[in-house]
Amino acid sequence: MNKYLLTIDQGTTSTRAIIFDKKGKIKALSSKEIKCLTPQPSYVEQDPLEILASVKYVLKSVFNNTNINPSQIDSIGITNQRETTILWDKNTGKPVYNAIVWQSKQSNYICEELINKNYQQIIKDKTGLPIDSYFSATKIKWIMEHVDGLDKKIANNEILFGTVDTWLLWNLSINKVHYTDYSNASRTMLFNIKDLQWDDELLKILNIPRNILPKVVDSSMIYDYINPDFFFDNKIPIASMIGDQQAALFGQACFNKGDLKNTYGTGCFLLLNTKDNIVDSKNGLITTIAWGINNKIDYALEGSIFVAGSAVQFLRDNLKIIYNAAQTEEKASLVKDNGGVYFVPTFSGLGSPYWNMDVKGALLGITRATTNNHIIRATLEAIAYQTKDIINIIEKDAKCKVTKLKVDGGASENKLLMQFQSDILNIDIEQPSTYETTALGAALLAGLATSYFKDYQEIIDNYTISKTYKPQMNKEEIDKLYQKWKLALETCMKFI
Ligand code: ADP
Repeated sequence: MNKYLLTIDQGTTSTRAIIFDKKGKIKALSSKEIKCLTPQPSYVEQDPLEILASVKYVLKSVFNNTNINPSQIDSIGITNQRETTILWDKNTGKPVYNAIVWQSKQSNYICEELINKNYQQIIKDKTGLPIDSYFSATKIKWIMEHVDGLDKKIANNEILFGTVDTWLLWNLSINKVHYTDYSNASRTMLFNIKDLQWDDELLKILNIPRNILPKVVDSSMIYDYINPDFFFDNKIPIASMIGDQQAALFGQACFNKGDLKNTYGTGCFLLLNTKDNIVDSKNGLITTIAWGINNKIDYALEGSIFVAGSAVQFLRDNLKIIYNAAQTEEKASLVKDNGGVYFVPTFSGLGSPYWNMDVKGALLGITRATTNNHIIRATLEAIAYQTKDIINIIEKDAKCKVTKLKVDGGASENKLLMQFQSDILNIDIEQPSTYETTALGAALLAGLATSYFKDYQEIIDNYTISKTYKPQMNKEEIDKLYQKWKLALETCMKFI
């Protein structure tokens, strides 16, 4: 009887269950949307029980459209939206507050206090992270400050903290194990990525008690078995947990030092595997843990672009010059170049290396000859230019030369964008055969833990590229276009 791997992919907008075969091919997929709650403008929250219910739903429904039987599942992997924070009562299983989602800014004031006390350097040295409400630590503190009677319950050992991986494992496992993996721990701003321990000094600074924290374990191991109540009476090992971007890095088979992937979604996330090298970024990149396997850690350097696919959504929803995202490809190819038009889509400030939250976007270089198609083309090009900006910093910080880029995510389906990306970077762009690299990464890690795969080599042998984009632009043209982009950015930075 053939065996398969199942991933629970718990993302910000939806939860999915995907079944893969040994070659990494998708055999079945089920999805359920998750609501975002915004009780106040800068707050983004979700109901942890809705997250859990959505997982239970997709675990059942994924078998509806396939003849694969639940007993044919070798193991289950979990990949998750990162940093999102949940505290719950371990006696009742009830959350003490909503999940505070990674995007939420409600703990900004706690970050300001930490910055005013000059804790930036110590936090960066220990965790690899800048002080930001994006990470879990200040979200935990926020919940502790806003829920009445929590201190007493914490003192009585009644409360647990977890990111979404931990919340799901605790709820789904037979023995309610309270674990997180290294990749998720490294996003909390409490985990010392050098000592590989929760950091006592940071816990003290933030006044966060150690007894609520999960045990930090490998990203690939049998943690426990799924409660048969949730899985058609089958007891299957839960054998991987990993944050979504790190999962994509694994799913793209980026196992070697210098392997780089970019996920083109709402924003873009670039991750470079730096193996055992903990690179201290001088330019605002994040140092993070890629995964831990057999107690061995791979580190990564991460750069993010806030606005990528969401600039395409802006064309559709605000300017209304396209009906859907895919149409950008056809429309942009109707013009031979950008016609001198540059679109800087900085709707929510500039990230690495500028870190300027006040910069607004702009459309530059318009003439009487400019058409919608030029603006559409300029929008796609902006995604590629921003990626080049980050890769330039990665090369500086990691002292390496990037020679190829692996891509995934919704906007990587755009051939014009990918060709332009290859041109402007002057390197090969590789698109894998499996579209769902994030879910695949978690599945592969689960399969490694159960010996479903013999070794890494078997995974590498299964990894195939569906398309390679080769650079076709000469250096002069690249420089001319890229310098104009830089000029456009500088112009925006002055217009504050
Ligand atoms: P996320 O996981 O962040 O929700 P996805 O990987 O599903 O993102 O990608 C969706 C994003 O990619 C949307 O912002 C959408 O505008 C953009 N997108 C999807 N398809 C295309 C395309 N063919 N060309 C350009 N952008 C696209």
